Amino acid sequence: MIIDSHCHLFYDRIYDRIDEVIDNAKAMGVEFFLSAGVNSATMLKNIEIAEKYNNVVCAVGIHPCEYAGGYNVEEMKKLVLKYPKIVAIGEVGLEYFYDDTPRDLQWKLFEEMLQLASDVNLPVILHLRECFSQDLFDILKHFNVSAVLHCFTDTLENAKKALDYGYYISFSGIVTFKKSDALREVSRYVPDDKILIETDSPYLTPEPKRKIRVNEPGFVRYVAECVAEQRNCTVEHLAEITTANFFKLFKKASDICKVA
Ligand SMILES: [Zn+2]
Ligand SMILES: [Zn+2]
Repeated sequence: MIIDSHCHLFYDRIYDRIDEVIDNAKAMGVEFFLSAGVNSATMLKNIEIAEKYNNVVCAVGIHPCEYAGGYNVEEMKKLVLKYPKIVAIGEVGLEYFYDDTPRDLQWKLFEEMLQLASDVNLPVILHLRECFSQDLFDILKHFNVSAVLHCFTDTLENAKKALDYGYYISFSGIVTFKKSDALREVSRYVPDDKILIETDSPYLTPEPKRKIRVNEPGFVRYVAECVAEQRNCTVEHLAEITTANFFKLFKKASDICKVA
C-alpha cells in the first residue's frame, strides 16, 4: 500500500470528483490519505471528508499565508478532542517566498500552532519555505513536538540538520521535476526510517503527468517511483518503509487503519 501523506481533498478541483479521485488512486495502489488543513474556512469540510471515508485522516492547521482569514485556537482544540480522525496539526509553519503575511505575524501564528500541537499531543506537519535558521530549529525544539517537513525543497545541509533533530522529511512531485537534481540528492540521503512521500494535490503534479493541471493523490505513485529509483530500491520497498513511517509519526491514524 502506498500512502499519500499530504494532500488537500477539500479544494473544489478535487472535491467535485472525490469518489473518482479516490478510485483512481486505488487503481494505482494508493490506498490511504492524509488531507492537511490550511485555514478556518475549509476546516470543517476537511474533517467531514475524513469522517466520511475510512481511508482518509486529516489535520487541522492555519497555513502562514492564511493568517488574514482568522482562527480560533480554542475552537481548534475542541475539534481535535471531538474527532479522532484529526491525527495532526498542520499545515503550519513559515513562508518567506510568498510574503502575504508579515513575518512577525507568521511567527506569532506558528508559535500558537506549536503550542496547540503540544497541548493536544499531536505531531506537526510543517510548511517551511526559504525560512531555515537556528531560530526555527530552536522553536521546534522548545515545543518538543514530533514533526514532518512536508514538501521538502531545501538544501541537503538543512535536511541533515532536521534529521539530527529527529524530524521526518517528505518529498512531493517536485522531486520528479527536471531541474530538481539537488533535491533528488536529498532523497537519496534521508534514512529509511525518516522518509515520507506526498502529492500536496491539487498542486505540484509530478512528472510524467506534469501537463495535467490538477494533481491527484494517486499520482504519489510517480513520486514513489522516482524516489525508489534514486534509492536503488523497489517501489514496493519504498511503499513499505514510507507506510511504516507514516503510522509511526501519525499514531492516531494507525488505530483508525486497524478499524477500517
Ligand atoms: Zn505546504
Ligand atoms: Zn499542502
